[in-house]
Amino acid sequence: MNQTMPSPRPDRIKKLLADLVAFDTVSDRSNLPLIAYIESYLAALGVSGQRIVDETGQKASLWVTIGPEDRPGLVLSGHTDVVPVAGQNWTQNPFALIERDGKLYGRGTTDMKGFVAVCLAMVPEMVEAKLTTPIHLAISYDEEIGCVGVRPMLREIAKRSVRPLGCFVGEPTEMKVIIGHKGKHGVRATFKGLARHSSIAPDGVNAIEYGAELITEIRRRAVQLAAIGSQDSLYDVSHSTLLTSIVHGGAALNIVPDHCAIEFECRGLGITESRQVTDAIVAWAKAEIEPAMKKRHPDCAIDFTEILDYPAIDTQADAAIVTLAKKLAGRNDHAKVAFGTEASLFASMADIPSVVIGPGSIAQAHTPDEFVEMSELEKCGDFIAKLIAHCAKTES
Ligand SMILES: [Zn+2]
Repeated sequence: MNQTMPSPRPDRIKKLLADLVAFDTVSDRSNLPLIAYIESYLAALGVSGQRIVDETGQKASLWVTIGPEDRPGLVLSGHTDVVPVAGQNWTQNPFALIERDGKLYGRGTTDMKGFVAVCLAMVPEMVEAKLTTPIHLAISYDEEIGCVGVRPMLREIAKRSVRPLGCFVGEPTEMKVIIGHKGKHGVRATFKGLARHSSIAPDGVNAIEYGAELITEIRRRAVQLAAIGSQDSLYDVSHSTLLTSIVHGGAALNIVPDHCAIEFECRGLGITESRQVTDAIVAWAKAEIEPAMKKRHPDCAIDFTEILDYPAIDTQADAAIVTLAKKLAGRNDHAKVAFGTEASLFASMADIPSVVIGPGSIAQAHTPDEFVEMSELEKCGDFIAKLIAHCAKTES
């Protein structure tokens, strides 16, 4: 890397993206080698970051400030983990970047190492610009398993006296300004029944049949949410959704099943609606199903465990961060998306107004032969260049 004569921006982006993609950071692996790579890249530019290490010591997020530490800044946020490639039909090595017809192929190119590469590629320009409003990089882990890894970092930031002005989460939106997404709460219900030979079925407690009562109630409530729940026409599916996704149970045709596990999720419009909906279902099952099972045998029960939880985000269309995002992106429109992001946690945990805006399309995320178009990364580079100009002149 040559600080005095930086290579052209597209070359810098491609080189960084190739390096980032080469780290296998599927969510169940350590991301520390990638974090160390970013730290040494930044150190060469005279920039240091703060590592926030998880309890296993195997993963870390990185909080970086370029510009004055004592003023409220603007955050660029991305995650380092990627979804697995196992079982997917890749026609290339997923961890070796390949360029073909203006597209860059590799795991994480669109979700979302492409964005992280652009942010890093723009650091020399951030350093050069003598920022008066700081720019922060918030680089997290374990996003793909339920926006887990960003939370310790946000708890840190929330404690500080100087709070950022806003955050851009660079998930793939084709550089559209996204002001809202639904929240999600996932629950596993484990029904413990009593096994018996099926010829004496009435002596057993059929875990699957009690589970079916829960599934029917979930379905009834889903229909109700669609019919009389709140609506938001900015979403493709304008109401909150609720469904059973997984059922496991039973061992053999001639055994009364003593085990049934059911997983269900709600995606809610309101900030905490998804959790409220699933909490109400858990309470209903505890009151309506479990006593009937226990009456048959006291050891029978239903256990509920949370699988996943993140709130919705609903940034007001006239919020300053939305206006700024539109100005920097050179567009006047905004939208809402179906997929969840860390933006909702920046807003709910640290009170940082946030929008989602990043290069590439969600259509390519999580797919074999994932790619991002180079033109998207360049658009993102332009966005950050304008952000740098904004932060170099704005007095905060
Ligand atoms: Zn992502």
